[in-house]
Amino acid sequence: INGSNGINGSSGINGPSPASVDISKIVSESDGSVSGISKNLFDQAVLGNPYFAAGGGLMFLGGALALMKSSITRGAGFAYRQMIVDLEISSKDRSYNWFLAWMSQFEGRMSRHLAVETNYAQRKNGSVETDFSLVPGPGNHLLKYKGAYMFVKRERSGKLLDMHSGSPFETVTLTTLYRDRNLFKEILNESKRLALKASEGKTVIYTPWNKDWLPFGQPRSKRLIDSVVLDKGIKEQILEDVKSFLKNGKWYHERGIPYRRGYLLYGPPGSGKTSFIQALAGELDYDICLLNLSEANLTDDRLNYIINHIPARSILLLEDIDAAFNQRAATSEQGYTSKVTFSGLLNALDGVTSAEEIMTFMTTNHPEKLDPALLRPGRVDFKVLIDNASEYQVQQLFMRFYPGEIEKCNEFMKKYRALHLETPISTAALQGLFVYNKHNPDGAVKMIEVLTDPNHSF
Ligand code: ADP
Repeated sequence: INGSNGINGSSGINGPSPASVDISKIVSESDGSVSGISKNLFDQAVLGNPYFAAGGGLMFLGGALALMKSSITRGAGFAYRQMIVDLEISSKDRSYNWFLAWMSQFEGRMSRHLAVETNYAQRKNGSVETDFSLVPGPGNHLLKYKGAYMFVKRERSGKLLDMHSGSPFETVTLTTLYRDRNLFKEILNESKRLALKASEGKTVIYTPWNKDWLPFGQPRSKRLIDSVVLDKGIKEQILEDVKSFLKNGKWYHERGIPYRRGYLLYGPPGSGKTSFIQALAGELDYDICLLNLSEANLTDDRLNYIINHIPARSILLLEDIDAAFNQRAATSEQGYTSKVTFSGLLNALDGVTSAEEIMTFMTTNHPEKLDPALLRPGRVDFKVLIDNASEYQVQQLFMRFYPGEIEKCNEFMKKYRALHLETPISTAALQGLFVYNKHNPDGAVKMIEVLTDPNHSF
C-alpha cells in the first residue's frame, strides 16, 4: 500500500509524499474494527490528501452544478408543460390558409416579416389570372390577441413535399399561456368567419389535394347567369331541373335512391359550357370542385375517396371528360402517370353515398367518343347540347354588349345572315368581336366579315 504502488511520489508527484499512507498509524488510530480501519484509511488517503481533496471538491462542485442545471431544465420543461399550450396547424388543414389570412390583417401583429403569396390560375382558354396576398412569412412572430401574447412560428418541413403543388409542407405553431388556451378557438373561428366573408357572394373553386379539397386561388366573383347567352330556353330548362333536384332531397331519401344527379353539357368549344356551370354555381350559391381526371397521381382509390368527400354546397365538375381516357391511351408510353381507369371512374360515380346532394357536371366537345356506359342514368341523367351561336344568341349577345342599340343590332343581323356561314360561329368568337369593339357597335357591324375566318385573332 505504501509509496511503491503508485499512490505516492512514483506516479510523478514528488516532494514530501503527502499522499503516502502509513498503515500502522491507521490501525493504531482506529478502534481496531474493519470499518474503523477502512474509514481511517479513506480519511488519510482521500481527505488527508490535498490533491484529492481539491479534485474531489471540484468534482463535487461540477456534479452539483450539472445536477442543478438538469433540474432547472427539467423544472423549466415541467413548468413549460404546465403553463404553456401549443396549437399546431398544418398546411394540410383548411384553417391553415384561413389563419395566415387572418393574421396578415390582424392589427396586434408585431412582425414585419411578410411573405407574398401569388395565386396564379391559367384557364382552359389560355387566360391567366394572378392575385397577390401578403401573409406572415416563415419564422417567428408575436401577436397580442385580447390582451394575451402569442408566439407564432411558421416553419417548413424540409423533407416532405406537397405532391399537388410541389411546395414543402408547412406548419404554424401558436404558443401561449395555458390560461389563454380558449383564445385559440376564438382565433380559429374569427379566421373562418373572415375567410367565409371573403368568399361571400363569390364562387370558390376547389381542387383535390391529397385526400382533401382545397380552394384554388382566391374566391372568384360570381358570374351572373344573364351574362351567359345560351339558345332559347336552354338555361331555363337546366335551371329548372337543378332546382327541382335540390328541392326533392326527402323524396330521394324516402325511396333509398342515392341523392345525386349527373349532367352532361356537350358541344363545340367556346360555346359557353364552362361559363354556364360557373354562372349556375353563382346562381345557386354553390362552389365548384374541379376535378381533372388526367391529373398525375390520381388513382381509382383516391378518386373514389375524394368524390365521396366533396365540400358541402359544391358542384363536381369534370371538364373534357372524353380527353381523360383518350389522352391516357395516347400517352401511356411517354410515362403518363394518371392511374384512373374508366371503370374506376364509373365505380366512383356510382358509389357516392353522401347524405348531401351531389351534382356532377361533365363537359365534352366530343360526345361521340364517350363510352355509353358513362351515359347511363345515375351517371348522366340530363344531357344537353350547348351549340355554336344561333341567330337568337347572336342577337342577344349584341344587345348585351350594346344595350339599347336596336337599330344597330338589326343592321348587324342583316349583314350576319348575308354571310351565309357554313357552320355557325362560336359564341366565344362573337364575344371576341364585341370586346374588340367595346362601346362601338358601328365597328362591330363594319368588321363582321372577320367571322367568316374561324382562325381570326384580334
Ligand atoms: P366552353 O366551355 O364551351 O369551351 P367557355 O365557357 O370556356 O366555353 O367560353 C370561353 C369564353 O367565351 C368565355 O370567356 C366566355 O365568356 C365566352 N363565351 C362562350 N360562350 C358564351 C356564351 N354562350 N355566352 C356568353 N359568353 C360566352
